[in-house]
This record gives sequence, structure tokens and C-alpha cells, in this order.
Amino acid sequence: MRYVSTRGQAGPVTAAAAIMQGLAEDGGLFVPTGWPRVGPALLHVMGQMNYQARAAAIIALYLTDFSLDEVHDCVAAAYDDDKFDHPHVAPVVAAGDCHFLELWHGPTCAFKDMALQLLPHILSRALQKEHVAGGVLILVATSGDTGKAALEGFEDVPRTRIAVFYPQHGVSEIQRLQMVTQDGENVCVTAVDGNFDDAQRGVKELFQDRDLAAMLARRGWRLSSANSINWGRLVPQVVYYFSAYCDMVQRGAVALGEPVNFVVPTGNFGDILAGYYAKRMGLPIGRLICASNANNVLTDFIRTGRYDRRRDLQRTTSPSMDILVSSNLERLLYHVTGGDAPQVAQWMRQLREEGCYQVPPAVAAAVQQVFWGGWASDAAARDAIRLVWQRHGYLMDPHTAVAYCVAEEYRHTSGDRTPLVIVSTASPFKFNRTVAAALGLATAGQGEFDVLAALSRCTGWAAPPQLAAVRDMPYRHDGVCRRDEMRDAVLAWMGEYTKIEN
Ligand SMILES: *Cc1c(COP(=O)(O)O)cnc(C)c1O
Repeated sequence: MRYVSTRGQAGPVTAAAAIMQGLAEDGGLFVPTGWPRVGPALLHVMGQMNYQARAAAIIALYLTDFSLDEVHDCVAAAYDDDKFDHPHVAPVVAAGDCHFLELWHGPTCAFKDMALQLLPHILSRALQKEHVAGGVLILVATSGDTGKAALEGFEDVPRTRIAVFYPQHGVSEIQRLQMVTQDGENVCVTAVDGNFDDAQRGVKELFQDRDLAAMLARRGWRLSSANSINWGRLVPQVVYYFSAYCDMVQRGAVALGEPVNFVVPTGNFGDILAGYYAKRMGLPIGRLICASNANNVLTDFIRTGRYDRRRDLQRTTSPSMDILVSSNLERLLYHVTGGDAPQVAQWMRQLREEGCYQVPPAVAAAVQQVFWGGWASDAAARDAIRLVWQRHGYLMDPHTAVAYCVAEEYRHTSGDRTPLVIVSTASPFKFNRTVAAALGLATAGQGEFDVLAALSRCTGWAAPPQLAAVRDMPYRHDGVCRRDEMRDAVLAWMGEYTKIEN
């Protein structure tokens, strides 16, 4: 399998090269040049496998430049039972007439772990395969969740180092503690005196700094990013659509070959795009239902074919979906136009320069054939958390609750009775204050760990130990810097590593 850029000016390259580069040289995203087929026979066999074996089977179809042993080793390291607290890794759980695909049993209790536990292992192998000497330095600016998930994934992975910058006053107390207590010899966590924008702009400047790149290169390091446009983040996500389908067949919710719909709480369009790949590979998916919060650019796009980011970003109780530019949509546009790279490049230019673009009716119709879009307000999500808890004893986080609301609206307006899986992207304890308030608990003035304990007492659900434990862990990272000092912070830290140990 080879990979080319959505903007037509890069590739074809191997999977290892695509993953090592992250973004293509022409600014586009790498996409596979074909669709591996998974027919009913293989699906049937996958039904008998555990999650790790299912993952290896799917990932091997895309990482064809990796040996099967290499794929197996990466998967075993990523989804091992010290890392995931559920034997099925990504279980499907029934509540009322819904099924929830729980993607939050990893080390940081949210769905980013599904990809960020695997990507570092693949990246480390990719360096060997491409005969690149030296290592990769990952730079991340985070508003909370991605930074911690990336730190956990890269911790002590050979030939990688990771530097995370977070806004000093822009993350929650638990998120901050999760990061400053991070273990690992190859990690560096620094607070930036400013907000998330400052941290993000600072990291962008570091990526564009040629002197910095040259200095690092002399020491054997190349810069890379772990954000969700990297192909290595997408491919692990295709797996859980197959796995969920196999589980639905096994529990008798659907016959092998019959369709299932998925409802996906969406921000950057990465999670739901993996579902599109699964469908194109032959998985019997009916509709992919794209659920947004009040930042409903994608709802409008799916309904009208017009993408318009010219609106204010709203802060909602589902912060991981507070996004106005959904980067991975570019890959969908490439595929639904039959690979029309010049056209995709033009829409992306319009988005950058004018803030909007309009696709023609035929393209909008192709999108609507597969996707349905809806959105939910914070109030609707809050009511859904309470209602589902009262009726079914199932506790949803605010992102999952947005998906639940949109699922209800879809069923109501379409009359479609296809079995439906709601993708659950975070543990309710990760967003404990919002969830506790939805259940009517008084939390004003209480510290986060008290709220965590109160939510656990009220529901009888155990709080994930990795969240509660950070309160008592030793601080390992106390650095603070201004935006204009981030470069020095990186160099000072990297200066300790004058050469790479292979
Ligand atoms: C990142 C994230 C999402 C959105 O996923 P995308 O791939 O950006 O669409 C949804 N829920 C949670 C909890 C997340 O962390």
C-alpha cells in the first residue's frame, strides 16, 4: 500500500514514510491509494479473535511495508493489560435500546489513547525501516487531553522524545496533575505563561524554525508531531469499528452482513473518518452519524455542502469537540471527489483565505449518502446524562451525551431502525464536574478530587484509579516559561542528549 497527498504534490510513499512525515510536503494529508477489502469470511474469523488480533489483522492491511511480526509486536505493546483496564480493550456495552462502544479504558480514560498508545511504537519502527539514523522529537501544545495521552504513549519508547507545552492557567487541576507527574526518561512537560493559543502559536513557530531544526539535526533529532492528521493516528481507529461490529454479531444484535449505524461525537473528524475507511473496506455500516456540539460547522456542512468557519468558537461542556476547522475532513473530500487533488487544494485555500467553501451538489450528495449530521446543546447533553442514568443506570460523559442526543434525533426524524452503536469517547469521571452537576449533585466550591469521590459514591461506579491516584504522585515537571522562551526550553532539555543511543 502506498500513500499520496490529498493536494496531489507529494508521494507515493510507504506507510513508514507517511507516518514519519506526518504532514505531506505540499501541506496536504496522506491517504492510501487503495481500499483493502475485508469480506464476510474474514469478518467471521475476526469474530473469534481478541482485540489485539483484530487490530493486527486490520493494521497489517495498511502497513504493508511492516512485517506481520512487527505489526504484532506494536499492537501487543500498545493494547496490553497494564495499559487498558478492560480485557476487551474497547468493549460494546448495552444500555436500554442503545449500544455504547467504550473507547476510554486506556491510561488517560479517553479515546485518544486508542491511537496514541500505538503510534509511538509504529513511529519507532518506521525510523528503522526508512534507515533513518537518530530519533524523533515530538512537540505538542495541549489544552489538556491530547498532551497527557501523547505523554503516556511516548513514555520510554526507544528513539523518541516528547516535549509538551500547556497553558499555565488553561487546564483543569486533574489535567495539570496528570501531566506534571508524568513518568518517563524521555518526556518534558512545561507550563506556558499564557493561554492555549499562546502555547499553540509557540509550538507552530518551533516547527517553522529552521535554525532549531538544524541544531537538532546535528544532534541526530528530527521534529515531528503526533496530532490527528498523522496517518498513524487514523489507522488504529479503523480497528474498533470492525471490533464493535464483530461484538454486535456475537451478542446477536445483528446478523453477519446486516448493517449497523454508528453515531460519533466529532471534533477534528478523525474518529468518524476511521468509520468511513471501515465502510469502504467492506464493513456493513449503514450510516455514519456525525454529532457536534454548539460548534456545529460539520452539521451545516453535511446538510448544505457549505463549510463556513467564520463564527465565534463557543466554549462548551464537551471541550474536546470545541473545534471550527476539522482537519481530517480534507481526507473525506479527497475520497468523495474520486481523488480530485487540485479541487481539494483549492477548497483548502479558500478555507484559509476566505474562511469558507462550497462543494457542488453532486459532492454534497455523495457525503449525504454516507453521513448524517446533527448537534446538541450543553443543556440537552446534561438532560441526557441524567435521563440515561435514571432509566438505564448507564453513566455518559458529556461528549458521549452529545452523541446520544443526536442518535435520538436521527432515529426520530429518519425512522431508520438499523441497530445503532454510540461511540463513547471519555470516561464520565474525566469530566466529573459536568456529570455530577447533571445528576443534581452540589459541587460548587469543592475540589476536583472531592467531586470525583462524590460522583463515585452517588453512582456506585468506581472512579478510574489512574485519575484518583495523581493527587498523591510526586511532581516531576515544574518548568514554566514565556512563549518566547519555549525554544530555549527545548534546546536546554535536548542539550542533555548530545547523541542518540540506537
Ligand atoms: C478528541 C475527542 C473527540 C473528538 O474526536 P475527533 O477525532 O477530533 O473527531 C471526542 N471526544 C473526546 C472525549 C475526545 O477526546
